[in-house]
Amino acid sequence: MENASTFINHETKTLARRVATERIAPAAGERDRNADFPWEAIRALGECGLLGMIVAEKHNGTAANRATFAAVASELAGACASTSLVYVSHAIVLKAIETAGKEAFKNKWLTPMLDGQALGAFAVHEPDSGSNAGAIATTAYKEGRHYRVNGSKFFVTSSGEASVYLVLVRTEMERSSGGMSALLIEKGTQGLSFGRAEDKMGLRSTSSREMFFNDCLVPIDNLLGMEGGGSQVIGQNVVGWGLFGAAGIAVGIARRAVDLAIKHAKKRTIAGQPIGSHQAVQSMIADMLIGSETAEAFLMSCAAAADNFPDTAGINGFKAKLYASEVAVKTANEAIQVLGGHGYCRDYTVERLFRDARGLLLHFKTSQWLRQDIAKAAMKL
Ligand SMILES: Cc1cc2nc3c(=O)[nH]c(=O)nc-3n(C[C@H](O)[C@H](O)[C@H](O)COP(=O)(O)OP(=O)(O)OC[C@H]3O[C@@H](n4cnc5c(N)ncnc54)[C@H](O)[C@@H]3O)c2cc1C
Repeated sequence: MENASTFINHETKTLARRVATERIAPAAGERDRNADFPWEAIRALGECGLLGMIVAEKHNGTAANRATFAAVASELAGACASTSLVYVSHAIVLKAIETAGKEAFKNKWLTPMLDGQALGAFAVHEPDSGSNAGAIATTAYKEGRHYRVNGSKFFVTSSGEASVYLVLVRTEMERSSGGMSALLIEKGTQGLSFGRAEDKMGLRSTSSREMFFNDCLVPIDNLLGMEGGGSQVIGQNVVGWGLFGAAGIAVGIARRAVDLAIKHAKKRTIAGQPIGSHQAVQSMIADMLIGSETAEAFLMSCAAAADNFPDTAGINGFKAKLYASEVAVKTANEAIQVLGGHGYCRDYTVERLFRDARGLLLHFKTSQWLRQDIAKAAMKL
């Protein structure tokens, strides 16, 4: 859909589409079946410079805006939603390091992270805090030149695979947002260990493991921003950029589902008639098309608003992610209906699209939390 995409860098989007088609899509089904982590896909993105696209030019990025970031996430997700999710999680950690990290940390990690030799992941959620980030209990108390970190995180995308973790911790006992800080913790730090990989329904080529911090000593220079500024770091990067990437993933899934449904409706004949000649099937296709185009247009409009007025990134990201992820689930579900029994089988891509789309209602912020946040903002509560 081109009329909604005037804010994006088309060259970057075209590059993403080419890499997605040539280097990411071919093995996506196999990766999903084997739950293989998409390392080759990530390195391909590093080789063509897409991993650093939202980082400033002085750090070898291209300073892309949110609309372009979302468009790239969408192109990648059309090929492989897992790769796109790993990409989005990585990109927002890279952005956080670039904007709030200490020079020594940047010098050590920016280049390998831009190349795809090292991955980033963000770790906010915990088994007992669930979707309420304000209720985290992982602590980090200062001891000389280190923080001593104790606690655990849950369901972290790329956990075990990533080299650098942006971890939200509690640096003050009381449960206030001002008592939270963001620490960068490197894989290999003594006291950091990982649980087993979750056996997920979809997004199976991402890894999701619990992380355990057991008297983990982290240098104080690994603090992002100020002590007590964890909510801001998460707000600016995970929310302020990540939600647009997440919405882009949803749009990519929806668009691919429509394409596959259209192809099938034209090709599949019953008693000599293509199923696409029946009004009932046409009606599904029309609804799917409008749904996916509306989600894309709405995402682009929210991303452009956030790019122009960064203070509105949170609320615009909530709206775009909520709407696009619900459209993705609905569209992938309808695509299965158009494909009939074939669509319910693992050999057909729409089945994977549906399983992948379902996870989008949960990751970053659940639909329930997003609705609450949107309504509260509208009512100024
Ligand atoms: C594919 C995937 C990738 C993920 N990646 C990451 C990652 O990289 N890093 C990370 O930190 N986390 C990640 N997560 C974790 C994710 O953010 C949480 O799963 C999500 O926030 C929900 O938390 P929960 O699973 O504990 O559900 P719960 O918090 O137990 O919620 C269960 C249900 O109750 C609802 N609910 C709970 N509290 C309220 C409330 N106060 N008001 C209304 N409804 C409520 C929820 O909306 C949900 O429907 C990922 C999850 C998934 C599925």
